[in-house]
Amino acid sequence: MICPVCGGDTMVCDSRPKPETVFRKRKCLSCDHRFATYEVDADLYQKLTWTIDALLENSEARIQEIIHGAMDQIKASLYRDCVRYEDGG
Ligand SMILES: [Zn+2]
Repeated sequence: MICPVCGGDTMVCDSRPKPETVFRKRKCLSCDHRFATYEVDADLYQKLTWTIDALLENSEARIQEIIHGAMDQIKASLYRDCVRYEDGG
């Protein structure tokens, strides 16, 4: 793996298997930057990506729904105020 800071070669300092992943501490041989990575099975990674995409899509739809709801309330409120003003109330 290449260093995310300088692009130099890196070495693994520590490797710890966990359920469905491998956690590795790495060190850059050029700039001494230290970072960690998780190694994940490709099928699991794909499933995670699809899940995250679905969550983001749903979030976006929900945010739009909330904004439209708020806009409808504001419009209704402005309309009521205009009618009240025109009626002299
Ligand atoms: Zn580096």
